[in-house]
Amino acid sequence: MKSQWASVDPDVVDAVDRVIERTIEPQAAAVDIAAEFPTAGLADLAESGLGVMLAPKSLGGAETSTATYAEALSRIAAACGSTSTVYMTQMHCAHPIQLQGSPDQIQTWVPRLCDGSAVGSIALTEPGAGSDVGAMRTVARREGDEYVVNGEKTFISNGDRADVIVLFATVDPSRGKGGVTAFLLETAVLAGFEAGAPMKKLGQKGASTVALSFQDCRIPVAARMGAEGEGYALLLRSVTRSRISAAAQGVGFAQGAFDSVVAWAMERDLLSSKVAEAQDLQFDLARLRGEITAARAMLMSVSDQVDQSLDEPVAEVSLLKMHCTTLGTRVAASCVELLGPDGDRVSVGAERRLRDAKIAEIYDGTNQVQSMLVARDTRLTAARETAAG
Ligand SMILES: Cc1cc2nc3c(=O)[nH]c(=O)nc-3n(C[C@H](O)[C@H](O)[C@H](O)COP(=O)(O)OP(=O)(O)OC[C@H]3O[C@@H](n4cnc5c(N)ncnc54)[C@H](O)[C@@H]3O)c2cc1C
Repeated sequence: MKSQWASVDPDVVDAVDRVIERTIEPQAAAVDIAAEFPTAGLADLAESGLGVMLAPKSLGGAETSTATYAEALSRIAAACGSTSTVYMTQMHCAHPIQLQGSPDQIQTWVPRLCDGSAVGSIALTEPGAGSDVGAMRTVARREGDEYVVNGEKTFISNGDRADVIVLFATVDPSRGKGGVTAFLLETAVLAGFEAGAPMKKLGQKGASTVALSFQDCRIPVAARMGAEGEGYALLLRSVTRSRISAAAQGVGFAQGAFDSVVAWAMERDLLSSKVAEAQDLQFDLARLRGEITAARAMLMSVSDQVDQSLDEPVAEVSLLKMHCTTLGTRVAASCVELLGPDGDRVSVGAERRLRDAKIAEIYDGTNQVQSMLVARDTRLTAARETAAG
């Protein structure tokens, strides 16, 4: 299906579709069943020049619009949730490096994330801190020309595979958000660092999610990205892109589940207007298609806003993330229901999309936390309008 959105580059989407058809889709069920890291899909995307689509061409990226990236990611998610998460994490790692890395960090790591020779990760969440960034307890204490890192991170995507990790740690827990500082860690030369075993999960089973532990882990001062205390602002800028990713996945999971019902119904000739007893199914599919189309339009529209506005459209991105990830689970659940007992069968594929969809409502800031951000913005906007008379 061609995208009609003006800011979506059709050639890039065609290239993504070819990788999906060639590598990602054929392996998706096996990746899920074996909980196997989707190495081949990731490599094919990188070899096709699509490793980090939003990175500039000068650094090996495809320099696409955010809408092109979102459309592409939704298609990858429709085919394979695990591949989509591993793939988007590459961008979530490259983007903060691009924004706040030193010239050396940018030149060394962004091209490697783009060409697939490095796997990237971003480590913020801790057992007691994620939504509440000010509660961060992983400490980077300055000692001469080094920092000594101690603490635990958890639920880190690609963490056991990563060659490079963007780590958020505090230089002083008493400073709350003001102490949060970003560091670039090169895992090959890191002592005092350990990645846990991949967690057993509900969905996206091939995308590894692990705990990281740091014990007197020494890193050079040159590993710092930006100044001490500048990590929180970097984080806020980074989550705009990562929440677009989660939203794109939501649309993709809905589309993937919908497509599995259409294929199933076509095999049984249930979409023909002559099959009156299947009218309920036909009407339900029409309604679900409308919901997916509307969510995709919202995804494209907010993606354009991200590219066009000087400020990050925080509330719009939160609304998008809430709307599309909730839609992903709801549509996938409806599809499983429409399939009757076949909804439970792995070979039909809708159950995988339902399992993959649920966690997108939770990661990248739970949807409750997104609601909080939207509520705050609603209050501020109303107060501004009242003050302006
Ligand atoms: C598969 C997966 C992959 C992930 N990948 C990464 C990754 O690569 N890097 C990374 O750093 N993290 C990652 N995470 C972590 C994820 O982003 C966080 O778990 C998520 O944002 C929730 O934050 P938290 O863990 O602090 O939960 P909490 O904030 O502790 O949430 C617990 C509950 O409390 C609610 N809650 C919290 N604060 C409020 C509030 N103020 N008002 C109302 N309700 C509230 C939440 O909605 C939730 O229901 C991943 C998680 C998963 C499951």
